[in-house]
Amino acid sequence: MPRTATPYDHAAAGPGRPLVDTHGRVHRDLRISLTDRCSLRCTYCMPEQGNEWLAKSSILTLDEIVAVARIAAADGVTTFRLTGGEPLLRTDIVDVVRRLAGVRGPDGHPVDIAMTTNGIRLPEVLPDLVDAGLRRLNISIDTLRRDRFRDLTRRDRLDDVLDGIAAAAASALRPLKLNAVAMRDVNDDELVDLVEFAIAHDAQMRFIEQMPLDAGHTWDRARMVTQDEILATLSARWELTPVPGRAGAPAARWYLDGGPHTVGVIASVTAPFCGDCDRLRLTADGQLRNCLFSTTEYDLLPVLRGAEGSARDEAVDRMLRSCVHGKLPGHAIDDPAFLQPVRGMNAIGG
Ligand code: SAM
Ligand code: SF4
Repeated sequence: MPRTATPYDHAAAGPGRPLVDTHGRVHRDLRISLTDRCSLRCTYCMPEQGNEWLAKSSILTLDEIVAVARIAAADGVTTFRLTGGEPLLRTDIVDVVRRLAGVRGPDGHPVDIAMTTNGIRLPEVLPDLVDAGLRRLNISIDTLRRDRFRDLTRRDRLDDVLDGIAAAAASALRPLKLNAVAMRDVNDDELVDLVEFAIAHDAQMRFIEQMPLDAGHTWDRARMVTQDEILATLSARWELTPVPGRAGAPAARWYLDGGPHTVGVIASVTAPFCGDCDRLRLTADGQLRNCLFSTTEYDLLPVLRGAEGSARDEAVDRMLRSCVHGKLPGHAIDDPAFLQPVRGMNAIGG
């Protein structure tokens, strides 16, 4: 089990002040995992069988999620990204979006609501999600070939994902982003095809370096496809020029033949962007995490279920500050002493 941290007792705790860590990073992005369940079984994320699901009784209710979100927004968080597992499997997903879209920051501004999804179920729910206040979508698609998709996700559902992307492309949500984990001898010969597919759907393609977050712990640094390799492959087809002004975004971007189309690479392994990280994570079972790779979690469940009213708000705020305070300068994947988190990506929230 991950280590559970003792709360840091911030001397001047109390909602309404920015979440600044000991390295000066201001936290503005809360990734909210809604479930660890998924309609696919991507090899780099989940095992085919034998996954240990989170206990149903520990999954945060909508009211509990909103309680945390309200305090986070008061503390300066401006984006909620809904993820999982597969967030669209949550039966109350439209209500989740609607309630979160009603949360206001200290200046009365609404919070930006984004979602990362595998796209399955999007055609049936997207109009309601947009109506509820969803502003941005990232959809994952690692291959355009049916046989590969089936091998990679262990489910024969490429057509459902393509329908989801078509629905997103037909909606007003922009920028629309498509994500692919680049994998050697799996889809590294499809990088150009994926970018062209994205352009045809008025979307931005982003390639992700594979990270050691698979439930099977099979990640191999020597075999992963690096940012340099991705750029070399794309350079054979387009002239790439860097897009300036990345700020804290995980993806570095390049214009394709001068623009307007771009491609992004999320190089968490070979070019970590920890120095600009403004992200915190809330797992579906109420654990706050300050990094994907952290082995420490801050347990909000007893706080959310053991207190009420302003006492609860203050305790949530203290826990958020403890979590931010405990954030390390970087993830140290390359350190020989690096320990992969016990949770797979589906249970952390990507
Ligand atoms: N099910 C949704 C999806 O696939 O988009 C949301 C959750 S998924 C965990 C979020 C993102 O994490 C996806 O883009 C997925 O490709 C990425 N991801 C999962 N495991 C990964 C790994 N080991 N390395 C890099 N990215 C990973
Ligand atoms: Fe499911 Fe997303 Fe993990 Fe694939 S990456 S198994 S779609 S949670």
